[in-house]
Amino acid sequence: MHECLTRRTVVGGGLLAALAGGCGHGVTSARGAVLCYHDIADVPYTLWCRTPEILEEDFRLLRSSPIAILPLDTYVDSFVSRRPLPERWAVITFDDATAGQFRHARSLLRKFGFSATFYVPTQWVVDRRGEFPDSEPAMSIDQLRLMISDGHQIAPHSNTHPRFTELDDEKVRHEIETSVRFLFDHFGVRSRDFCLPYGLYLPRHEALLLEAGMRSVALTGTDHGPGASALVKVRRFEVLQTMTSAHVLQNFL
Ligand SMILES: [Zn+2]
Repeated sequence: MHECLTRRTVVGGGLLAALAGGCGHGVTSARGAVLCYHDIADVPYTLWCRTPEILEEDFRLLRSSPIAILPLDTYVDSFVSRRPLPERWAVITFDDATAGQFRHARSLLRKFGFSATFYVPTQWVVDRRGEFPDSEPAMSIDQLRLMISDGHQIAPHSNTHPRFTELDDEKVRHEIETSVRFLFDHFGVRSRDFCLPYGLYLPRHEALLLEAGMRSVALTGTDHGPGASALVKVRRFEVLQTMTSAHVLQNFL
């Protein structure tokens, strides 16, 4: 196996050897996954929702396993600085910064001592809306401040959560820059870790992300390969409503 493929990342629903950001990083046998959660709700309203009870079971299994829960920063830094990862690791991310995440995931993260990254569609925070009319609204600015004070990271997930593949480059640039600026203006956060709405992008968007100062991009679904080596590709495992906790973990234990 090529040495660049020895760092393993869970992709799709199976364990695939995958590059998370260009060649040249150190060799490691570490295995792990960047977990991608969406809303947490008592009554799941989409395939991407998980209940608080099953999220607690996910966390309980993670806590009782030899898996180290890493902040996203540590994961991205391992590519930038070529630092090795622990043998078994996971990164916890939540998309869309929903009020359900604040209500349910916050206390569970605290209970198990985990930190997570919340990707924020910034206009949804202003409008207190979600993806669908019956979705949980996004967290408020005050709720996001509490998440930060708990030790979690927040990072941009565009401004209005559009499909980048349907926009011209100027609009994509605006979406990236507006969300990055919002997080700085309201929270003093200078995040360089972007998450694509719906996981959709075109290869040329990597240059726009680099122009905006991004160092990583979180993927789900669409994957155009290594692309620009200066942009770390954070390939994620989407945790769906139908998956048992054991199934989620068995992918990288
Ligand atoms: Zn999203």
